[in-house]
Amino acid sequence: MKITSYELFQVPPRWLFLKIETDEGIVGWGEPVIEGRAATVKAAVDELMEYLIGKDPLDIEDHWNLMYRAGFYRGGPILMSAISGIDQALWDIKGKYFNAPVHQLLGGKARDSIKVYSWIGGDRPSDVGNAAKEVVSKGFTAVKMNGTEELQYVDSYEKIDQVLERIAAVREAVGPYIGIGIDFHGRVHKPMAKILAKELEQFRPMFIEEPVLPENNEALREIANHVAIPIATGERMFSKWDFKKLLTDGYADIIQPDLSHAGGITECKKIISMAEAFDVAAAPHCPLGPIALAACLQVDATCHNAFIQEQSLGIHYNQGSDLLDYIVDNQVFKYEEGYVKIPSGVGLGIEINEDHVRKMAQIGHNWRNPVWRHKDGSIAEW
Ligand SMILES: [Mg+2]
Repeated sequence: MKITSYELFQVPPRWLFLKIETDEGIVGWGEPVIEGRAATVKAAVDELMEYLIGKDPLDIEDHWNLMYRAGFYRGGPILMSAISGIDQALWDIKGKYFNAPVHQLLGGKARDSIKVYSWIGGDRPSDVGNAAKEVVSKGFTAVKMNGTEELQYVDSYEKIDQVLERIAAVREAVGPYIGIGIDFHGRVHKPMAKILAKELEQFRPMFIEEPVLPENNEALREIANHVAIPIATGERMFSKWDFKKLLTDGYADIIQPDLSHAGGITECKKIISMAEAFDVAAAPHCPLGPIALAACLQVDATCHNAFIQEQSLGIHYNQGSDLLDYIVDNQVFKYEEGYVKIPSGVGLGIEINEDHVRKMAQIGHNWRNPVWRHKDGSIAEW
């Protein structure tokens, strides 16, 4: 079998889909994108696909190493997201070729289903109590929200109190046992992160996420030594080499590699297995589309330490185009009592509605994240 051609589709709300074709008529789909830089990743995919045309799509390890190593320069969000989407599409082809779901080829299922969580609130969280109540009434048993808005290196206790008020409203709305993930979103710097973490402990969060930016991961030590809340991070880390120091340092409890950013199925399976050896859990990051989610579920199926999966249904970014719009059978992502079954279909386990993809690619998108500034005019982390 040989790879003959490929196509890229930049579709709303902010995604990029890749279709790889073969001379045997088998096609594979991937989602190579970093949010806000779809066109840049698209250019990287074009460059990488030059190597793959005419090659056997089944030799995934070799293609991965070629894309990663043979370009000399490696890593980072753009190159690794391009590799990720190509890798997903190659696994989709392999599964279809062997008439098996990808998880079967990775060793088989360690679980039948996985818990999912739902986002509540938006970039600037408000009215989260009611939003939490609503998603819990739909059966979710875990939610995630942004904790704060802009926060200066050293900011006022008024902002801390506002965060506490919001989390208290959520805890009160959902009762004591619904999981609440609180995403600091890298908006918080070390001086405020430790205050916030300590103050949030009373609400017994499921985890705090990116309490500091990943480039400041050494600051996790202080937080980990002072609070008992599980610490999650990793959506902005892109390879097993990026994760190795985090794991050996031992301050993270949950890693969140993104199947569309951290080298795809091939690399994320390895990253999560590395974490297992440190007794660290995995909750793959996925505020993206259906192909990325399907890839996550295939890997979750085979990793003992994966305990919950992010998914984007109804997320604030998805207005106008949502998770289920691009697939033929949306029952594949049906959530029951807060869980989703591991897809049993061949390849990634989803069928893409190509007509809809083509139609929406005509519309396209130019999604950018908002630029935030502090009161003094300086750039704030979003
Ligand atoms: Mg996050």
